[in-house]
Amino acid sequence: MSVAFDTVTAGEDLLDVHSTTAGNTTMRVQGVWRVRVISVDSATRSAMCSWNGNPATRYTERSFAKLRRVAPEWLRQSVMRGRTCHYCHAEERDGHRADCKHPKAVRARAKASGAPVVMAPPRTGRAK
Ligand SMILES: [Zn+2]
Repeated sequence: MSVAFDTVTAGEDLLDVHSTTAGNTTMRVQGVWRVRVISVDSATRSAMCSWNGNPATRYTERSFAKLRRVAPEWLRQSVMRGRTCHYCHAEERDGHRADCKHPKAVRARAKASGAPVVMAPPRTGRAK
């Protein structure tokens, strides 16, 4: 769930998932923000990261415990809809779309087709 500092590599995208208020309301929803790792400094066990496209700031080793590589399967991202998937945006009651990248959806499709499961963590983007 959390991200171990020693597994963090420059150029990868991590996710910051936390509760926030929806628009002009006091209702809580879950938000997902991209944290791009710009550079890793193993000497100080910290990394320069860009949160949601903002200028890079220094993340200490401990900061990574709050981040994740894979979004929870279902998130309450809107007060107007049921829980939805971060990757395919489908509602929980409809299930993931056929091309959803969420590891649980990928695994379920592989299981249904009888094919062996080969998994890599999904990436939400790649450094150029
Ligand atoms: Zn999905």
